[in-house]
Amino acid sequence: MYAGHFAAALALKTTQPRAPTWALLLGVGFLDVLFGIFVLLGWERATLTPGRSPGFSLDFIDWSHSLAASLFWAALFGLFFLRRGRGVAVAAGVAVFSHFVLDYFMHPPDLALWPHAQAHVGLGLWVRWPQGWWWFELAFIALCGAMYYARSRRDPSYGGRALAACAVVLVLHVANSPWASPTR
Ligand SMILES: [Zn+2]
Repeated sequence: MYAGHFAAALALKTTQPRAPTWALLLGVGFLDVLFGIFVLLGWERATLTPGRSPGFSLDFIDWSHSLAASLFWAALFGLFFLRRGRGVAVAAGVAVFSHFVLDYFMHPPDLALWPHAQAHVGLGLWVRWPQGWWWFELAFIALCGAMYYARSRRDPSYGGRALAACAVVLVLHVANSPWASPTR
């Protein structure tokens, strides 16, 4: 999942308005940030597969994206926000773990249960549904965006740019469509 991760951050913000929006946005993308760093370090591997959805193959992503690693990074990330209160820390941790849950729907079974585990999971909508995944993700974004917008109308503390925030996520999603990218 791509832009849908950011939509999840907006939805989380409605459940814990005291959590800083930047922390939730960073949280939902945190596993991919780690993935980028780990690839540069040579700890994880991915190869491009032009013309075949989703355009790449994630050969080894166990340190950033396995179930156990996701839980570990979620706990660590949440701990950083503990001084802002337990609710904020939990929301930050859930933001990180939501990445694994949403990737589970999209990824072919390349998500290990723990680093170097044989067992891998992933429903594989990217592969099974080379265009349909985009509509599935759009529906998720619409749901989260509606939650965020509705809550922002009632809570003026963060509602000022709710529509703009939803629009940014939508633009990202359109830019990521299978029709926009020649590699997929
Ligand atoms: Zn990811």
